[in-house]
Amino acid sequence: MKTFAMMVLGCKVNDYEATYLRNKLLNDYKEVTFKEVADIYIIFTCCVTNIAEAKTRKMLHRARNLNPNAYIVAVGCLAQIKGKNEEFKDIDLVIGSNHKDEIYDLINKHFIGNKLEELNKPKFEKLFFDHYPGKSRAFLKIQDGCNQFCSYCIIPYARGSERSGNYVDLINQANLLSKTNKELVLTGIHTGRYFDGKNHLYDLLLGLNEIKELKTIRLSSIEINEISNSIIDLMKNNNKLAHHLHIPVQSASNKILKLMNRPYTIEEYINRINYIRKEIPDISISTDLIVGFPLEDDEAFEETLNNLFKIKFSFIHVFPYARKKGTKADSYSGHLDSSVKKQRVSKVFELEKNIEIEFKKSFINKKLELLIEKKDDQYVYGYVKQYFYVKAKGSGNIGDLVDVIIEEVNELEVLGHVA
Ligand code: SF4
Repeated sequence: MKTFAMMVLGCKVNDYEATYLRNKLLNDYKEVTFKEVADIYIIFTCCVTNIAEAKTRKMLHRARNLNPNAYIVAVGCLAQIKGKNEEFKDIDLVIGSNHKDEIYDLINKHFIGNKLEELNKPKFEKLFFDHYPGKSRAFLKIQDGCNQFCSYCIIPYARGSERSGNYVDLINQANLLSKTNKELVLTGIHTGRYFDGKNHLYDLLLGLNEIKELKTIRLSSIEINEISNSIIDLMKNNNKLAHHLHIPVQSASNKILKLMNRPYTIEEYINRINYIRKEIPDISISTDLIVGFPLEDDEAFEETLNNLFKIKFSFIHVFPYARKKGTKADSYSGHLDSSVKKQRVSKVFELEKNIEIEFKKSFINKKLELLIEKKDDQYVYGYVKQYFYVKAKGSGNIGDLVDVIIEEVNELEVLGHVA
């Protein structure tokens, strides 16, 4: 039996697409680790961080060294941007943001001697499968691509223009996954822009809501101006839609938001958050933030810190700005030293630490729902619907949703017991 090894870098969308391919390959091929000799090496690449880029190069090099005759496949964002350039010339198959539904056939064809080509036409591929092995929560890719062109972001170039999965196909796929996974995370590059020509995100949420076996539906990330009042109402009146929204703010200074080409002011962002919190008081709102963007002077950074303090996110993914060749921001003047960016990351961490703990403490003595990911003799472990990790005394099965009472919150963990 021929063997394959797979490495998945980057985001949930890569994870979803890789799971689709892995499930198909396992019918005909045996999986080995990326440290072993394999006939096929597949890398789902990422271009968002320099670390992911460096790791991709390292893995490609390792694959060629382990087996000079291996068939090497690079898939995803970095593959799309680099194409078959000097660095990637040694790779047999480069699949960028499209045609991922054809990789399996292309691999098979290779072993019967067909010539392979890099392909290039944008469409939403039907990457559907019936189970998500090894995960208590399954991802469902509903959308791909982005038309926003934020000035720092390479994704619209890498993933191409927006397209969405067909409503009926997605409901069918969700039905299949719900047999083994109680929680579904809706993923995409610009999820809030889901539109299949007839149905918007709200319609899809309504349809998913009807699936009996599905206990939790979670939106992975959504832009502030794409959370409609009907979505908020649905979330408020329906226990299935997790009370958690990840809403990238990216900066909390209007000057920087404008330079970033983000489509809102910080006042608009805060007003909308206030409205959401008024409607759904126990909601967790988290965010992504970039610090050290070109021309972010001390004043702009202070404005950001002050606004973060006002907003009080339940957690912040903070990144130092990284230059990306080909983006608008790369050509800006006023790039900052990495030492300044580092200091700003630490300041955000410092500010956020207590806010995060206070948020979790607001649930002490309250009942929350936890999806069990791990267990031992005394405890079950997993994320609650508000998306923080809890260690709860009691028992249950992996993949089950149980009620837990929160008892204690400290810097390291949140403790509770199964109700
Ligand atoms: S919305 Fe902006 S940050 Fe998000 S993928 Fe599109 S361009 Fe990138």
